[in-house]
Amino acid sequence: MQAIFDLVRDVPDFPRPGIMFKDITPLLADPAAFAECIDALCAPWREQGIGAVCGIESRGFIFGAAMAQALSAGFVPLRKAGKLPPPVVGMDYGLEYGLDRLEIGTNALAPGERVIIVDDVLATGGTLDAARRLVERLGAEVVGASVAIELPGLNGRARWGGTAPLHALASY
Ligand code: 5GP
Repeated sequence: MQAIFDLVRDVPDFPRPGIMFKDITPLLADPAAFAECIDALCAPWREQGIGAVCGIESRGFIFGAAMAQALSAGFVPLRKAGKLPPPVVGMDYGLEYGLDRLEIGTNALAPGERVIIVDDVLATGGTLDAARRLVERLGAEVVGASVAIELPGLNGRARWGGTAPLHALASY
């Protein structure tokens, strides 16, 4: 999608030396481009009976909340450890260095509810797949996942253990 290629900025050595960070904030600041992006992110999921959009902290909240409104679905945040009030269910996952954890409210999704998972960037894929396992642990149905940007060089798609489709608007 051209808006992404035009407006997402490459930031070398952020947040650590050797990392090329994709900065989505110029895209968010452009109302027409952001709207076009939300529309394209929603396209695969229209008429699919999506009950909830699960957005991953923190940039997945921005895309996910806008998508939830456009799809007339609820928005459910998947947060880093210790941010949501109890009761919560958590999922640990491996990062390049160390462990991280995502949590969801225990009663945030109904069993069998049709859910999509949203984040801004798919890098190594650990975060998105942990989100999938967490949503499935609550008994909801993961219909698929959407990211604005996929970094295929990091092979994150291979880590997505779901059989549900994983959509990306742009690949670098
Ligand atoms: P992964 O678990 O796929 O390695 O990393 C994905 C997570 O890290 C996402 O939640 C995403 O927000 C963040 N992330 C990793 N690399 C980038 C990047 O270059 N730009 C942005 N905006 N987020 C990134």
